[in-house]
Amino acid sequence: MITKKNIIIDPHNTLRKRAEEVSTPISEDDKKILKQLLEYVIASQDDELCEKYDLKPGIGLAAPQINVAKRMIAVHIPDEENPENTVSYSLYNPKIMSHSTTKCYLESGEGCLSVDKEIKGYVPRYSKIKVVGFNENDEKITLNLKGLPAICFQHEIDHLNGILFYDHINKENPFDVPEDYEKL
Ligand SMILES: [Zn+2]
Repeated sequence: MITKKNIIIDPHNTLRKRAEEVSTPISEDDKKILKQLLEYVIASQDDELCEKYDLKPGIGLAAPQINVAKRMIAVHIPDEENPENTVSYSLYNPKIMSHSTTKCYLESGEGCLSVDKEIKGYVPRYSKIKVVGFNENDEKITLNLKGLPAICFQHEIDHLNGILFYDHINKENPFDVPEDYEKL
């Protein structure tokens, strides 16, 4: 099981590398990593499990964050009121196929399991994205995302390209974003 000890912290070379494509069909080892990534994010949202296994809560995790430079991510965003809207995926070779021209940002800013220091500022993201990736059974998954899930996938896919959320923050004016950006 992945715990806090397995998650590497910025600065670290692996967090700044472009991760390698995963070959199809997926190997047993890679399949195991996909499962562990999703298992971690789900468990990290449970207070009891968090304490028991020393997990840091998160909604997404990418393989480079556990020092595996391969294109794999997991995202778990439950929607308790509308369970059918829960977004819970573990994918390899995820790719943003298209995106809206409109942009958005989280008013609270973003955080990252691999960034220990608090970095304040707005992170501009596309409001809507279409993601294609493959699950542990090599099935092609197409997702049309908006809101928090769209932001989270962009954050995780950035990890596969060696990009961290604070790279997107305006250095001179961290809270300065164009007026037409949607606030979430
Ligand atoms: Zn992150």
